[in-house]
Parts: sequence; C-alpha cells; structure tokens
Amino acid sequence: MALELRYAALMSPRTVTTAEILSVGSELTVGETRDTNGGELARALTDEGVQVLRLTAIPDDLAQVTDAFGRAATRADLVVSTGGLGPTPDDLTREAIAGLVGETPAVDDRLEAWLREMWFRRGMPFPEINLKQAWLIPSASAIPNVNGTAPGWWLERSDGGLIVALPGPPREMRPMWADGVMPRLRERGLGVERATRTLRLWGIGESQAADLLGEELLRASNPVVATYARTDSVDVRISAVADAGRPARTIADDTERRVLDALDEYVWGRDDETWPAAIGRRLADRGWTLAISETGTGGALTALLGELPSLVRSELNATGDGSAIPDGERDDLEAVAGGVRRASGADVGLSVAARPHGGDTQVSVAVVAPSGSHRERRLVFQRGAQGRSRAALTAASILLRQLASSQPSMPTDHALTAVQPETVR
Ligand code: ATP
Ligand code: MG
Repeated sequence: MALELRYAALMSPRTVTTAEILSVGSELTVGETRDTNGGELARALTDEGVQVLRLTAIPDDLAQVTDAFGRAATRADLVVSTGGLGPTPDDLTREAIAGLVGETPAVDDRLEAWLREMWFRRGMPFPEINLKQAWLIPSASAIPNVNGTAPGWWLERSDGGLIVALPGPPREMRPMWADGVMPRLRERGLGVERATRTLRLWGIGESQAADLLGEELLRASNPVVATYARTDSVDVRISAVADAGRPARTIADDTERRVLDALDEYVWGRDDETWPAAIGRRLADRGWTLAISETGTGGALTALLGELPSLVRSELNATGDGSAIPDGERDDLEAVAGGVRRASGADVGLSVAARPHGGDTQVSVAVVAPSGSHRERRLVFQRGAQGRSRAALTAASILLRQLASSQPSMPTDHALTAVQPETVR
C-alpha cells in the first residue's frame, strides 16, 4: 500500500469528493474520551458535498495508525486525522504518515523558531521533547495552530489525493479546520453540487412514514431519502447531487413533491426549524399572542415553547404523572383554555392535560382562538417522562394545525393519528 503511494506517477491534485476521517488516540478506543472531532468533521464535509466513507478510531499504535492511513488513502480523496500530534512518544501520527509515503521527518527551521519563541516569551526553557512538533516531511506543509504547540500537516499525495492531520484537542482542531483547511480545500476543489432539505413530521411513527414513502423512494441512491426518529420530530431528509446535467436542486424539488404527496398532513416544519419557531411564525403572521395551561405534563409544554416571544403566560396545574387529576377538571379543558386566555389577555389559549393510560399517555388538548375552538384527545406512546414530552409535542402540533387552518392560505385540518379527535363541544 505504501508503495502505491510512494511510487505512483505524480498525479495532479484531484477534486475532493470522498473523505475518510481518522480519530487517533488510545483514550478514544478505551472509551475515556468521546470522539467529537470525527462527527464534527463529518458534518462539515457532508455540508460541502463530500461523501464521507468512514469514521475510524485507532489506538496510539504505529502499525495500526499507519495501516489506517494507508487503507483510507486507497479509498478516499481526502484523509483527515485528529490526534497524535503531541510531543510525547505515544503521539505517532507524523511517524505514520512519513512511513506511509516513505519520507523521513526533519526539523523545519521556521517551525522550530516559532516553537522556541513560545517558551522564550514565557521565560521557560524549551523542552527538547517538543522539537518533534517542528517536524515536516518534504511533501507536507504546516497548518498553523494559534491555540497550541502542534502544527497540522497538509500533504498532497502522489496519487492526487490529500492527507490532512490536525491535533486532537477540539479548541485547537476547530479553528485550524475553519481557517487553515477549509479555505484551502475550497480553492483546491471540494465536493459536488448538492441540495438537501429536511421535512419535519409529527403525529406519525418513523416506520409508518417509511411505509407511506415506499421502498422505491427509500432505496434510491440519488436523491437519498432517509427518515430519522428524533425526540421532537420524525425527520425526512432528501439529499440530491447533480446528475447528467440535472441540477441537484431540481432533483431534490421533484422528490420533495413526491414526499409531500405521501406525508404532507404530518409536516410541521422544514430544515432546522424548531417547534417555537414554527409556532412563533404562525402567531406572528396573525399578530396573536398565546397563553398555555398544562396539567400532568410536568411543565413539558412550557419547556418546549418557553422561548416563544409571543407566549404571555404559562400555568402549570400539576406535576408528576397526572394520575391525580380529577375527572371533572380534565373534562373542562376548553374552559381552562378560555380561562387562561381571558386572564392573560392573550389571543389564543391552549390547554393540555396528560395522564397515564396503560403503558401509554392519554393527551387532551383544547385550543381557544379568535377563529374558533377546538378540542381533541390522543393517545401517545409510553408513559413517564417520554409520554409527557410526547404529550407536549402533540399539544404543540394541534395548536399549529389550528393556527394553520385559521389562515385561508393554509391547508385545513387533518386527522393526525389513528385515534379519532373528539368532536368539538
Ligand atoms: P496536543 O498537541 O495537545 O498533545 P494531540 O494531537 O497529541 O494534541 P491528543 O493527545 O491525541 O492530541 O489529544 C489531546 C486531547 O484532545 C485528548 O485528551 C482529548 O481531550 C482531546 N481529543 C483528542 N481526540 C479527540 C477526539 N477525536 N474528539 C474529541 N476530543 C479529542
Ligand atoms: Mg495523544
């Protein structure tokens, strides 16, 4: 493998469309430190339209690190590593890369002067062990590190690919990536045109969403359509790349229409939108304020919507699992919504009551708005904290639906789940 890299005819740099990420350090493979670098770099590269093929963690072992670089370099245009650039003998990333490309590290005068100066400024003797951090090999150049003593390495591979080595500490790695690597990568040629969008759903399970989307859509390679079950949403992500003269955006648009055909009634937001943002946008459109009253939810709805600027009051009537709520109080939910609306002078009153129902949670919701009143009861999965959180999200989704249906331009009310809404009283 090393030979391939060493003696391959020197090829001109190729655009980076694929990458592998190596996280070096035994503290990662024994589980002492969480590999956050790998995920951050994967996200950043994906955003640039680079396909990340693998993320690998490797212990501080020369043979293993060398092997990992070698294998990754045969597969990916770009290999980015973090860690192992420290001064101690167990920091072996430089040795591994040098061995792989068959070059011998030598102290670089400029890096040495920069390092010595750092200790000199503090009036401290320079520890010769740190001289290793001034090493370079002929095909590598240094990536400046303003927060530490370990410069990174930027290495143009003889096969036209690239190796970038960065230190492990995130506070050093991040600015080096942003200032020293990304601009150079962009200049060199990075990624393919890509269009992504996320449709955020509530009131439907991930598997039901997958069923409605169908296998053809979910197995296609361009665009990739994938579902993600998150705590506040079931997300459908569409990710397209340009293909045969068709722009990525056109491909994503076409698929988005197909996804909406299947799932439109469950969509509450797009891309990075949060619940407060989605509800806030619709309240702001109408110039309305909101007051909420919650019972048996442990404050989950207030926690969800707390940052909403148009929320003028929130009342918490009971904490815990809500099983102690008297029946009469539950049944009078619309009066509770009307009460908190009146007392606070808000335009919209929202009340929610949750209580355990077998292993699940029963949620009752009432919305009193200038455009009319609505009441609905649903069953959500699980009890306890999970159930309470889902109850709050369900209340938010019912509110959103009511707000949307009060605008002539928006679609009207849809039933969200198998559990039928109660008739408006
Ligand atoms: P230094 O020059 O500071 O010695 P280094 O390149 O040798 O840098 P490491 O010794 O491998 O880096 O790691 C130093 C610290 O950085 C670790 O103790 C850990 O806290 C953090 N770190 C290393 N790798 C990762 C990673 N993949 N994700 C998150 N944190 C990491
Ligand atoms: Mg280390």
